[in-house]
Amino acid sequence: MPHTLLLATRNKGKIEEFRRILEAVAPGEINLVGLEKFPDVHDVLEDGETFEENALKKAREMSLATGIPAIADDSGLCIDFLGGDPGIFSARWAGEHGNDSANTEKVLEQLRDVPADKRGAHFTCVAALYLPDGRSYCEEAHFRGSILFSPVGEHGFGYDPIFQPEGYSISSAQMSADEKDAISHRGKSLRAIAPHVITLLRSLG
Ligand code: IMP
Repeated sequence: MPHTLLLATRNKGKIEEFRRILEAVAPGEINLVGLEKFPDVHDVLEDGETFEENALKKAREMSLATGIPAIADDSGLCIDFLGGDPGIFSARWAGEHGNDSANTEKVLEQLRDVPADKRGAHFTCVAALYLPDGRSYCEEAHFRGSILFSPVGEHGFGYDPIFQPEGYSISSAQMSADEKDAISHRGKSLRAIAPHVITLLRSLG
């Protein structure tokens, strides 16, 4: 019998990506489901002080609400010149939650007079697993690059149009989804946690 694992998201793209990663590590062992299977479960208030606290809180609350193991991620953009901001506040940096263009404009304004060699930044992602018996496991990964002077590109989301990955001369919004997944903070943390997810789920018998 495959183990059922909840990925705490309603984003179908995230579910498909993680399903492919788990299948590559342990074919047929995990039945990954998203939050659409649990319409009554409420969103989690992300009030932690670190990516890890938020990711673990989401995984823990979703696991306890559903009674099955749950995995969650939390991510954001950390800009060197801003001392790591917007960090955990990335989704609501300009005030309103999820207003990507306002967030991007605010960052560009904050870095208006900052020269190219001082515009270093990285995305961070923490993936967290929580089992109903209280065990948990986290993996953190980074995606290094720099902040451009104006937005470019149509793919991706959030800060992608102003983020140029290290070693590239295009923004992450000009990459295909596969190209970005291969080097991104989210892709790396999910690939890193996958073998531990399999080991912990196998230990449940
Ligand atoms: P969360 O992990 O869903 O809380 O997302 C946090 C926020 O960080 C998003 O709303 C985006 O603004 C930003 N972010 C995280 N990962 C990425 C990425 O891969 N590209 C662009 N923006 C991102």
